[in-house]
Amino acid sequence: MSIASVIVDVQAKSINQTFDYIIPERFKEILTMGMRVVVPFGPRKITGFVVGIKDTSEFDKLKSIIEVLDIQPVLTKELLELGKWVAEDTLTMYITAYQAMLPQVLKAQYKKELVRNIQEPLADELEYLFAGRDVISFEEFEQSQVPYSKLQKAIHDTSISIEYLVKSKITKKLITIIEPNKDSYLLEEALLDLPQNAKKQRQVLSFFIQFPEQIEQSKLFKLTNSNRTVIKALLEKELLKEYKKEVYRNPYDEEAFERTEPLKLTEQQELALQPIVEKVNQVEHDVILVHGVTGSGKTEIYLQAIQEVIKQGKEAIVLVPEIALTPQMVNRFKGRFGNQVAVMHSALSNGEKFDEWRKIQAKQVSVVVGARSAIFAPFENLGIIIIDEEHETTYKQEDQPRYHARDIAIKRGQYHNCPIVLGSATPTLESYARAQKGVYKLTTLDKRTNENAMPKVEIVDMRDELHSGNRSMFSMALKESMESAMERGEQIVLLLNRRGYSTFVMCRECGHVKQCPHCDIALTYHKQSNHLKCHYCSYEEPMPMQCPECNSDSIRYFGTGTQRVEESLQQLMPHARVIRMDVDTTRKKGAHEKLLKKFANKEAEILLGTQMIAKGLDFANVTLVGVLTADSMLHLPDFRSSEKTFQLLTQVSGRAGRHELPGKVIVQTYTPEHYSIQLASDYDFNQFFLREMQIRKTFRYPPYVYLALITVSHPNHLKVVQITQRIVQLLLKVVGDDTVVLGPTPSPISRMKDRYRYQCMIKYKNEPNLRKYVKKIIDQFAEEVRKEDILITVDMQPYHLM
Ligand code: ADP
Ligand code: ZN
Ligand code: ZN
Repeated sequence: MSIASVIVDVQAKSINQTFDYIIPERFKEILTMGMRVVVPFGPRKITGFVVGIKDTSEFDKLKSIIEVLDIQPVLTKELLELGKWVAEDTLTMYITAYQAMLPQVLKAQYKKELVRNIQEPLADELEYLFAGRDVISFEEFEQSQVPYSKLQKAIHDTSISIEYLVKSKITKKLITIIEPNKDSYLLEEALLDLPQNAKKQRQVLSFFIQFPEQIEQSKLFKLTNSNRTVIKALLEKELLKEYKKEVYRNPYDEEAFERTEPLKLTEQQELALQPIVEKVNQVEHDVILVHGVTGSGKTEIYLQAIQEVIKQGKEAIVLVPEIALTPQMVNRFKGRFGNQVAVMHSALSNGEKFDEWRKIQAKQVSVVVGARSAIFAPFENLGIIIIDEEHETTYKQEDQPRYHARDIAIKRGQYHNCPIVLGSATPTLESYARAQKGVYKLTTLDKRTNENAMPKVEIVDMRDELHSGNRSMFSMALKESMESAMERGEQIVLLLNRRGYSTFVMCRECGHVKQCPHCDIALTYHKQSNHLKCHYCSYEEPMPMQCPECNSDSIRYFGTGTQRVEESLQQLMPHARVIRMDVDTTRKKGAHEKLLKKFANKEAEILLGTQMIAKGLDFANVTLVGVLTADSMLHLPDFRSSEKTFQLLTQVSGRAGRHELPGKVIVQTYTPEHYSIQLASDYDFNQFFLREMQIRKTFRYPPYVYLALITVSHPNHLKVVQITQRIVQLLLKVVGDDTVVLGPTPSPISRMKDRYRYQCMIKYKNEPNLRKYVKKIIDQFAEEVRKEDILITVDMQPYHLM
């Protein structure tokens, strides 16, 4: 086997294929599929993935691989196949799909070091190479004559590890280890010599006499109530010695987790768990939809299913929406499975993410809890994949490759013959329809584990408030309920449903609204900087003093940003302590956790926030949930807006009365008669499902049809319309009679960053060759796209119709 097929890192459609390279003799023994290599490509040196190894090539004059970047493959055979499928299914390039499966650190080429992990001698050549050092550069190894197979073996038996120098500060966390430098009896002698007033030093010495072992310095400080000065004195006396040890950065302090035991399941939980465990035991793939009201104990079901999987020596992936990856959620998994759990979410630094990934690769963990991209965790023995809150749109990647984690999960489940569990109180219409048809298994939990009723929902018509002279954004009912909750010492969650509802600037004289000069959207007012900012491009400008249209000075900001709500809340209830949670207050790493902790510690009565507070929070003392503007999402140009409103209202209502105290929800709205608001207040998912399905059927939307969206953008308006028009015409020629091709229509955001945007939407039921057609048509524009800065994007499963 002397030829490698490589997918190279060149972002060009014409390069979207494998290239053959000769495997030089020294790499032959170690090179396997799934490793990254450096290869010559034209005049350049670039990286690539080895996707195949073979004896011969149909091409001659092959070049040779220059360098092998991995000693262990970074993509398993399964992931290599999966990546190929992802690329073809989402019409993306192979290289893009492969890169999406790996942590950021591996996407770039970083310097590497070899670190010796054992004191015992290494294999001869390696021992010689290290020459007494603990760390050597990878280059030194490459320049030596030591065979790669020797190194591979040493890495395999963990006597040596490879470290990536991402940025030396972030990648490595060193901890100081202290240990006795002398035998215990010598320490005892030294103790006698120490003056009586050197109390702390004596304490530390006594500690080591009792426990003559190495210990982390920070722990030693705690246990002996000492500090660095004390340790330093003992180091200088050569009674102790210290060394630095590299550790995985652990964003979650292990000791902070209280271990939990499996709870005795309720009858409904039993019934839901059974079919899952059955599939696990039978090693059979299936998709099981767990439709359970909030607080019905879905997470406990997940935990016990995973326990079964671990018992069989297999692995589990749990996906939760990014914003639900709160410490509360993570704690529940860490609490049950301890350090068997890796956690992956975007708040981790690149180095931290890489560490978590390596734990998975090295089989040091058997559970990963993470956001969307954790679906690519390189487990090789999967026993279950769980997608919590399966209705969340964050499971769809809105960037290439535009995949949906649910599809990937099912694909992996088929490969590993394991069940996929989809959990939600408000499943997507797509999933629920499949469950009804028997494509998925359905289990329903309609009771909370504590048998409490769902909190009662009161709908307040804000038009009536206005008529009766209340111009504030808080209805009388909400105000009174907040006051009485506070009197009882209970807490309140307030949701500002801000989608499409932000603070814009308008002139009261002429009605002029300040727009972004580059995008088709109103600018948003940011109080802190007194600036106007665009949410789609980075444009910003100072808040104008006068209207640019009519020069009047009555230009003001309108709408309800969280900041403004907070201010009026403070005016309304000066005694209330408010924690505001939105993108602005949670930008800093760890801020999210901190705010929640404050709320849990009752350092505030009210938690005010955007969508991010609707999910996964579980506070015993919260008895009142207020929704300030339930309908602000209803009027978005998106056929899913009713569904999303229903989901959000149900989710946020679920935050109240989760424990002993009964809960109550107040929903403020200008359209109280809307069915998604009415039915959410009755927790009537089934009725909502029927109602909404009718509408989808009438207007031909999913799940009755599939959608594909092609978006074209270019600085010239006419050009965009023309190209979109041509795409529509070409499509119409090839698709079936049943298929609808709409367009060219301006995108809901019709201009962004100075580029006009038009779209073509395809609605189809059965179009097995659609991907082929679309690809072929788009390829016809390749030349124009390259020359004229046209951008054509295809989304084969659009969720974001903007
Ligand atoms: P969901 O994920 O369905 O919203 P959770 O899993 O968060 O529900 O469960 C709600 C509450 O019920 C949690 O506080 C959890 O600890 C508790 N709980 C779950 N299962 C049981 C059980 N079998 N017995 C007692 N309490 C339970
Ligand atoms: Zn004006
Ligand atoms: Zn803009």
